[in-house]
Order: sequence, then structure tokens, then C-alpha cells
Amino acid sequence: MKLAVLGTRFIGYLLLLAITSWFLFNFLLNSQSVIMYKYFIEKPTSYNLERAERLASSIYQSFKQEVPSPSADNIRVFITKYNDIPFLSVNFIYQDQEGLMKSIIKDVREIDILNAEYVYPIKYGGRDVGTLLVYDINREYQKGLEEYNHTINITKIFFAILLSLLLFILLYREYNAKIEQEKRVAEYQAVHDGLTGLYTQKYFKDFLATEISRAERYKRPLSLIMCDVDHFKKFNDTYGHLAGDNALQTVARIISENVRASDIVARYGGEEFAILLIEAGIDEAKSIANRLKKLTEQAVETAHRIKDKIEHTPFEVDRTAAGTTISMGVSSYNGADPDYKPEYLISEADLALYESKNNGRNLITLFDPETKKFIRSA
Ligand code: GH3
Ligand code: MG
Ligand code: MG
Repeated sequence: MKLAVLGTRFIGYLLLLAITSWFLFNFLLNSQSVIMYKYFIEKPTSYNLERAERLASSIYQSFKQEVPSPSADNIRVFITKYNDIPFLSVNFIYQDQEGLMKSIIKDVREIDILNAEYVYPIKYGGRDVGTLLVYDINREYQKGLEEYNHTINITKIFFAILLSLLLFILLYREYNAKIEQEKRVAEYQAVHDGLTGLYTQKYFKDFLATEISRAERYKRPLSLIMCDVDHFKKFNDTYGHLAGDNALQTVARIISENVRASDIVARYGGEEFAILLIEAGIDEAKSIANRLKKLTEQAVETAHRIKDKIEHTPFEVDRTAAGTTISMGVSSYNGADPDYKPEYLISEADLALYESKNNGRNLITLFDPETKKFIRSA
């Protein structure tokens, strides 16, 4: 997957999440608000603006009667008494000897002092004593509402950010997993043929080079079988290229099914296949010559098995019985020659293969490294 595609998808996810969380939290928090207002902030049923105004005025009227001498203590008693009314609150501000503004009720913000609905200057015998402030519950209500909404908004943003972060982490992990997966696929495709799933010629040659040096080091013999489908051009011409592809896939499958797990099979060319046999389970007791003989026998046996299977497999095309055969060349290396090169093994197997072709095809020919002669395998 390309990064751009992921980007679009990511933004899509993000938007979806933002909208979903927005609705979800709105719903949750609004339900909470309803409950909060209902039980904690809702105005008392006895409230109405005129009544509040009347009451505020009557509090003012009764100030002088109830506070005969305007000492701070007397005023505090008065204020406390009237603060019991459910929808009004009362405060009193005055200037002290130093000229500083004081409030009877402590911890009141300056802004709240100035925002009282009803303001009554109090004079005793022409002398300013201070100001009586009466607040309507509406103000408290508004203030509470603002604070509450503020908290709710912060909560919403916080959760939206949190969820986005979580989503980002999830997508990032998904993206990384995809990259890993793509890497694995690319690595696989680099060394495997697309049509047959066998190893590529390049991989095979690299592998052979390392195996030859290993064979030298451990005196371990190697065998190579080169295969070429007979008259495959004609097969294509007769049944079509698609049927040819299917036939190649079947041939590849038959080869893979008839070799040991330790053998390496590659699609060497168009309709050519290479099988490398490495001696599995080295028997040190045997001489190199014996081990080579055994491995070569194994290679010939494998070649026969494959050749016979292919010969007897019907490659049915459009309900018409089609068939094909395969020619093979086998070469071996005993592991004893330090100057031996991978190309020798390939060209000797190739020569043996041409020998099979020249002798009529559907044959197996062995190249004998000792005598440099071809041995036709019955
Ligand atoms: P010979 O018995 O001498 O090997 O004859 P041949 O026709 O098999 O050999 P030749 O080299 O003349 O032709 C090989 C043919 O294999 C030609 C080509 O179209 C076909 N071929 C190669 N790769 C593919 C493939 O991937 N799919 C198909 N359908 N055909 C392929
Ligand atoms: Mg060929
Ligand atoms: Mg061919």
C-alpha cells in the first residue's frame, strides 16, 4: 500500500473518529448537564424577576432598621441572615481607614462585586458607610453554566485528542505491519519465479556458487539435473500459450513433488528447470567415490521418477488429451577439485541434456566426469 493511500484513509478514520467522539461525548456530557441543572443549579420554583426585585428592595429598606449602628460585625449578621433566601445573595462593600475597598463576604472576586444586579449606597447621617449589593440567582446560574460548559468543552477536546492519539498509534502499527508484509513479499518475489513459484535462475546460480565452495570445504558431492521440456514450441503452437503456461506449472509441481526437501529446484529458463541435489546425511565411512556414486544414482533415480511422471501426466487442454515429455542431463561434482567452478557443473549438465535431445528426447543422459563421456540412462 502506498503512503498516499494510507494518508487518505488515515484522514478518513480521523474525521470519523472526531465526529463519533464529538457526538458521543456531547451526548454523555449533555445528559450529565441535564441532571446537574435539574438537581443542583435549577432555579427555585418560587423565583421570578419581579419578586427578586421586590425582595432586593425590601432588604435594602430593612437595612437601617436591622443595623442600628453600621459596624462590620452588625452588617455581617444582617448579610448572613439575608443570604438564606434561595434566589438572592447579598454582600456589602466599604472603604476601610486606609481607603481600601473591603467586602463583608470574603473571597469574592472583584469582577463579581461590580456585577451585582442591585446596588444600594448606604448613608448614615449623610456619611457614606458603604454599598449594599444584591445579586440575583440568575447571575450565579449564568456563571455556573459558563464554568460548566468550559469544563465540558475541555473534556471533549481532551477525549478527542486522546482517541485520535490511540487511533494514530493503531494506524501506525498497521502501517508498519503492512510495510513488513510488503518487504516479505518483495523478498519472496525477488528470488521466486512468478509463474511456477520455483527459485529464479539468479538465486539458483548464487546458491550453486556457495554450495560448490561448501562442497570443496567438506568434500561433499553435488549433483545437478538440467531439464528441458520437449517440443514445447509446438505445444504452444498447438494448444495456445495459456495452455503452455499451465503445462509449465504442472511440470514445476511434478518436479517439486518428486525431489527431497533438501534439493533446490529452479526455473532456469522458459521451459528449462534445474535441480540441485546436495548429499544429505554425509556418511564419513564411505569414500568420496562411493558417496559420489550414491548421490549420482539418487539424481538419476529422481530424474527417472520425474520423467516418467511427466510422460504419463495428461495435460488436458479444452477436453483434448495433450501430453509432453522432458529431456534431462545429469552432472556431478565429487567435492575434491579445489579449482572446480559452478559453470563446469552447469555446462556439463547442459551437454548431457543436448545429448538426450540429439538422441531422440524423453531421455536421461549422464555426464561422467572421470571418462568425460556421456552415459545414456535406460
Ligand atoms: P526442444 O525439444 O528442442 O526443447 O524444443 P522446444 O520447442 O521445447 O525448444 P525451443 O527452445 O525451440 O522453444 C521453447 C519454447 O518454450 C518457445 C517458447 O515460446 C516456449 N516458452 C518459453 N517460456 C514460456 C512460458 O513462460 N510460457 C509458455 N507458454 N511458453 C514458453
Ligand atoms: Mg529450451
Ligand atoms: Mg524445449
